[in-house]
Amino acid sequence: MKRVVLALGGNALGDNLHEQMIAVKTAAEAIVDLIEDGFEVIITHGNGPQVGMINLAMETAAKVDESLFYIPMSVCVAMSQGYIGYDIQNALREELLNRGINKPVATIITQTLVDAEDKAFKDPTKPIGAFYSRLEADEMAKRGYDMREDAGRGWRRVVASPKPIGIVESDTVRALLDAGHVPVAVGGGGIPVKKTDGRHLKGTSAVVDKDFASAKLAEELDADMLVILTAVEKVAINFGKPNETWLSEMSVEQAQKYIKEGHFAPGSMLPKVEAALSFTQSAPNRKALITMLETARDGLAGKTGTIIT
Ligand code: ADP
Ligand code: MG
Repeated sequence: MKRVVLALGGNALGDNLHEQMIAVKTAAEAIVDLIEDGFEVIITHGNGPQVGMINLAMETAAKVDESLFYIPMSVCVAMSQGYIGYDIQNALREELLNRGINKPVATIITQTLVDAEDKAFKDPTKPIGAFYSRLEADEMAKRGYDMREDAGRGWRRVVASPKPIGIVESDTVRALLDAGHVPVAVGGGGIPVKKTDGRHLKGTSAVVDKDFASAKLAEELDADMLVILTAVEKVAINFGKPNETWLSEMSVEQAQKYIKEGHFAPGSMLPKVEAALSFTQSAPNRKALITMLETARDGLAGKTGTIIT
């Protein structure tokens, strides 16, 4: 049986509570299709809009009520894992029951180990939360937020995004898989933690990219394939230009060349291609696929998407 890590992008979750309830139903249908096709799946997901919403809510609350403590980003990530996982596991459970498949589903609160010395802490790059106009972004910058333009779509807040060096709960995820369960793990890239004295795990103010965390989890679970499900059916070179070309396949060498030439936007497609590369290169016979939720089944059948080998 092929073991695949399915990394769900923002599209599979929507931008708010109501959208998420609807979006996860569609996601669950596509995921259960793959389970019916015989794949052993692990679900991972992003949390950009959700962690931004939680963080903003917590900061706003702390401003009006001084008895409330400041809630660190790591705790916001933990909260986002809980509430996104709750929706995903229920939607999956229901869809499995609808099709007469008896498979338990559970979300694992997952921590991702990062290096305290990671240079990312000095240069925040990860967009989180809502999109803002340039004027609003200027206002937020005055309030101390790091703001950046995100791939031509508007301005967003950015936080540090260190690279994952290990997934703390991967043995638990593997045990669930071996027992036939469907695990939801490393939500939002996992709660970023650093080791402070060889044993104690301390949360850090960061958001780990979910594509890199998914690649690391896939590596630790010895998965056959990392499937990154996003808003585009394939990866393009010259994206958005008149000579845009959609790719069905990329070798490691080609991908590295395209990265150097700047074809993939930082914060959106670049981390996906880099995550695909790191998983593919971690051992022989490991492949990565980048496509949409709607085309995941065809993608795994080799009919569409961009495959990195
Ligand atoms: P997710 O929420 O799934 O992580 P992102 O919005 O972060 O999705 O990244 C996917 C987006 O990356 C696409 O919708 C597209 O606008 C953008 N993108 C940037 N460069 C490329 C490229 N070279 N090929 C395809 N899409 C690209
Ligand atoms: Mg993204």
